[in-house]
Amino acid sequence: MEKKDIDWGNIGFGYMNTDFRYVSYYRNGKWDEGAIVKDSDITLNECACVFQYAQTIFEGLKAYTTEDGHIVCFRPDLNAERMKDSAARLEMPQFPADRFVEAVKEVVRANEAYVPPHGSGATLYIRPYMMGINPVIGVKPAEEYMFRIFVTPVGPYFKGGAKPIVIKVSDYDRAAPHGTGHIKAGLNYAMSLYPIVKAHEEGFAENMYLDAATRTKVEETGGANFIFITKDNKLVTPKSDSILPSITRRSIMVVAEKYLGMQVEHREVHFDELSEFAECGLCGTAAVISPVGKINDHGKEICFPSGMEEMGPVTKKLYDTLTGIQMGEIEAPEGWIYRIS
Ligand SMILES: *Cc1c(COP(=O)(O)O)cnc(C)c1O
Repeated sequence: MEKKDIDWGNIGFGYMNTDFRYVSYYRNGKWDEGAIVKDSDITLNECACVFQYAQTIFEGLKAYTTEDGHIVCFRPDLNAERMKDSAARLEMPQFPADRFVEAVKEVVRANEAYVPPHGSGATLYIRPYMMGINPVIGVKPAEEYMFRIFVTPVGPYFKGGAKPIVIKVSDYDRAAPHGTGHIKAGLNYAMSLYPIVKAHEEGFAENMYLDAATRTKVEETGGANFIFITKDNKLVTPKSDSILPSITRRSIMVVAEKYLGMQVEHREVHFDELSEFAECGLCGTAAVISPVGKINDHGKEICFPSGMEEMGPVTKKLYDTLTGIQMGEIEAPEGWIYRIS
């Protein structure tokens, strides 16, 4: 397999058009058999439900080359299940989990020339998504849907190591109680654009969102869950019905307990207790873990003892263990690594 001539170490986190994508249509109450296609453009009616009422959901995962030269991806079954949950909440048909996993494998195999080599730091980002496509003007769910998966190579999230970031406590809310915060829907991101642009203008990397009802509890950022390390070496991660259940975070909880022998607490985290933690990080597929050095609460800083120079020692251990598992350097729990080729 001839790889594309790409400077793997120097690509950013952006979209690059690749050769193939997967598409399946839902019509007359059922999914068609699906196919790998070449066209990266989509033509839809102007009144498609996705354009008018944002009936769209997505997923994100990565494929990469292991030390021994296999292409694998990490826990795609959990992305498949989460996408089914997202679909149910937006009155969309569910794409079967086994077909989701097969489609991921097919589209990655078709684009094998774009899978970055081991050790480059780059990975192949996989983006499954689904949308309502028939014309809908009275508010109701679409009757026809398109499920697609495209892939795009992405560079190492952190060039030259993960430097701790500074985040701010947002005055905006990400998700309402009993709303859609727990599903991966485009609408949750549309409303986060204004606060993130403002935060960037003010020099912050991310927004920390608090619970909308009481503004006393920590939820998450626009696209990543929080982990905290206590001074006595426990992993604490916020629990709330309006947090998106990150697969990275759920995997870190297992790594902490089963690989590092740590105690793990998944519970409500009050904003007031943040100053007692030793380390803080953001977790998601893109960066795995981004260390947080400081949280700015309207000018008042919460500075974690791990500082602004490097990842805290426990966060680093979690990061190294999880990425070691992903890259095939450390033995993975049963069923975490799916071999594609
Ligand atoms: C996708 C996402 C995450 C991270 O989830 P992973 O499965 O770890 O990639 C966290 N928060 C939000 C809001 C997300 O959309």
